Amino acid sequence: MTKRIFRSIVIASLIVLLAALLLIVGVLYSHFTDAQFDQLRAETALVAQAVNNEGQAYFQGLDRNANCRITWIAADGSILFDNRSDTAQMENHAERAEVTDARNTGYGQCARYSATLTERYLYAAQRLPDGTILRLSGAQSTVLNLLAKMLSPLLPVTLAAVILSLFLANRLSKSIVQPLNDLNLSQPIGNTGYAEIRPLLRRLDAQQIQLRGQALELAQMKTEFETVTRGLNEGLVLLSGGGAILSINPAAARLLEVTPNCAGADFTAANQNSDIAALADAALHGEKGEKILPLAGKLYLVSASPVKSGSYYSGAVLFLLDVTEKQQAETLRREFTANVSHELKTPLHAISGYAELMKSGMVSSEDIPRFSEKLYGETRRLIALVEDILRLSRLDEGGEDMQKSAVDLFALAQSTAEALSPAAELAEVTLSVQGEKAVVFGVPQLLSTIIFNLTDNAVKYNRPGGSVTVSVTEDTDGIRMEVSDTGVGIPPEDRERIFERFYRVDKSRSKEVGGTGLGLSIVKHAAKISGATLSVSGVLGRGTDVCVVFPK
Ligand code: ADP
Repeated sequence: MTKRIFRSIVIASLIVLLAALLLIVGVLYSHFTDAQFDQLRAETALVAQAVNNEGQAYFQGLDRNANCRITWIAADGSILFDNRSDTAQMENHAERAEVTDARNTGYGQCARYSATLTERYLYAAQRLPDGTILRLSGAQSTVLNLLAKMLSPLLPVTLAAVILSLFLANRLSKSIVQPLNDLNLSQPIGNTGYAEIRPLLRRLDAQQIQLRGQALELAQMKTEFETVTRGLNEGLVLLSGGGAILSINPAAARLLEVTPNCAGADFTAANQNSDIAALADAALHGEKGEKILPLAGKLYLVSASPVKSGSYYSGAVLFLLDVTEKQQAETLRREFTANVSHELKTPLHAISGYAELMKSGMVSSEDIPRFSEKLYGETRRLIALVEDILRLSRLDEGGEDMQKSAVDLFALAQSTAEALSPAAELAEVTLSVQGEKAVVFGVPQLLSTIIFNLTDNAVKYNRPGGSVTVSVTEDTDGIRMEVSDTGVGIPPEDRERIFERFYRVDKSRSKEVGGTGLGLSIVKHAAKISGATLSVSGVLGRGTDVCVVFPK
């Protein structure tokens, strides 16, 4: 800007200087022409006086190379004398403007290019008393001549003017730009510079206020976003169009094993997982994708989605969702379905086999009661299995629709023991209930299922002459229900697995006593829904203790 102003001032001053010079030359030229005419008129008058006095004799011996051209013209315009040209060759001058004027008024003057001499000449003509006309003429200086003459005095002046204009232009341009350089743009309104830029400063100020507001809003939104994502168990990563990390929450940083403050870093360089890098890269190119990957000892569904802004992709979002439980549940469901089919098939095949033998008459009449007993046994097993499956699938739904009420666990244990006393008697096992009234708030059917299954197992996996004790006590931890038996016991390595569906320590023993392999799975589910904790202890070959603690 300074350069431009400097150039403009220099050009303007040079144009003014040139115009002034031209004007001066023009004025001087006109002034010199007038002065030359005055001088020529005076000389003409003197020569006319002399010619009038001396006549033709005046021209005798006149210097032909004199500065001035003298022409004596007869009244008819013919040339009587000319000190420069041959009079015989000269044309009639009667019609020349200065001659006509002199003939009519006594004096005439004119400036023109001489017909004979190709220069601009000034002519002054005076009528003599005898009617003849005396004319003096002299070459007029041309403008170029004048300029050439004036060059030497004008040159230093012009040079001085140019130097002065360069110096002033330099100072002026700097002083014009200085207030603009001194503007405090962080506080536009406080500037006292040019009045012309005040609207611009006001606009700047308004825009700065607006920008500050927007920045504040953005910062708030960023803080809110970070607060929300910080608390997420799921991993969330936002990537820019160039693949740089814009935001990463602590869960994602932990799962991808990158430092949490890696915002701004290139994702491919920061993340070492090639599968996730490939998903991110595809998303940045507009391709949505997802994959289940093992991360930090769990299974995560990693989904990468492109972010589209108008017609181009401006970034990508990576979402890491823990699907371990879902996957395990899926596996369990698949295994359960396979197990159920297998467990159902066994009694069904047995029933079908016995029925076929009876139908084809291959069973003698004395064997019919034995076969009927087997048929009945298998059918009971089938019914127990179907009932347990149904119970389990109801519990799988969460048991939310089940009604809760206050239940006395001691009374429930006593009624269960009563119901199981025939079976206990048959197995030659003594069954006793100890403790006192202890009320828990829960679903009666679930509590009854827990006590029944545990007591039933304690009787089933016992030995003749053994005993089962159900005790209900209340302490600071909660209400404790313990079922202890003096039975076969459970090997320590199986104590975790007995709660799995269809898991049996001794399969043939379980079948023998009419077990389905689902009893403890149902207990585990029911305890979970009731908010109770389960633990198993005991000594293999000497007995088992199963303890359930209900919250008060
Ligand atoms: P089941 O219908 O076969 O009894 P459960 O789920 O109730 O199925 O029990 C799973 C397995 O745990 C049983 O098959 C048995 O081997 C073992 N078990 C359960 N309770 C006891 C117990 N009180 N004493 C010894 N073993 C037991």
